[in-house]
Amino acid sequence: MDMEESGMQANAPSTVLAHWFRAAKSVVVLTGAGMSAESGIPTFRDAQNGLWSRFDPEDLATARAYQQDKALVWGWYVWRMATVRAAQPHAGHLALAELAAIKPSLSIVSQNVDDLHERAGSKEVIHLHGSLFASHCFACGRPHDDVCLPPEAAQKPSLRLMPPRCSHCGGYVRPGVVWFGETLPKLAWRRAERWVTDCDLLVAIGTSGIVFPAASLPSVARHRGTKVVETNPVRTQLSDQVDLSWRSTAGEALSGLLAALKT
Ligand code: NAD
Ligand code: ZN
Repeated sequence: MDMEESGMQANAPSTVLAHWFRAAKSVVVLTGAGMSAESGIPTFRDAQNGLWSRFDPEDLATARAYQQDKALVWGWYVWRMATVRAAQPHAGHLALAELAAIKPSLSIVSQNVDDLHERAGSKEVIHLHGSLFASHCFACGRPHDDVCLPPEAAQKPSLRLMPPRCSHCGGYVRPGVVWFGETLPKLAWRRAERWVTDCDLLVAIGTSGIVFPAASLPSVARHRGTKVVETNPVRTQLSDQVDLSWRSTAGEALSGLLAALKT
């Protein structure tokens, strides 16, 4: 750390991050479930506290679980789709889209399966874990677009619902997310690795840093000498490996960064 930087560390996190943001040629923002928490979308762990404490989320998010009890798994995903449909992007999503207008090389690598970044106006978004809204046939892989969301779905995480059938082969439709034990979409992963390799600032927002391979991206950046910043209300697996660990919500951090850049 040079003299200017050691002085910078005494400043507010927003000032430090704004300094690094201005200096960066290329910025990657890695988002996790915490990015959507202020829009009312439960994170993985929060989901365990609710009705779903009876179930292990990893057992709801595997191909084996789907094959064993399709109505349970599909019903849970229909609830998640309805919850996201009813949610709105928050100030942090909107600030991130504005930050990309200031720094056009900014791109987003998201572990989230919602569409809140896009609805906030962000253009360069990779979804490493797929999308809730890209359902396809479990048997033949063809897309299935017209998923029906019952009006009460957003209130019913324990809704049991059989998945629709594929119009081509009659197979059952599955959600378009990457389940535990499945490989990430190759193209998305390659692009994410390239963006992270080429960037000179990586900001990890609202991720616990325990779901691999996404969780390896901050250390890929770090090993190349790239500045890595984390924003999260609590300490995480990443906290000891970053240049700046900022205890804040996604909304506070991104609005704070935007405000610091405008002063
Ligand atoms: P995670 O649930 O493991 O961790 C979420 C992190 O967000 C935690 O560290 C928590 O402290 C932090 N957090 C909570 N509120 C926050 C806020 N307001 N601002 C910033 N941070 C906040 O999530 P993960 O690291 O993304 O990994 C778990 C998996 O869960 C991912 O594969 C993801 O695809 C999936 N998931 C996605 C969504 C979504 O699409 N919105 C929701 C739940 C789970
Ligand atoms: Zn099919």
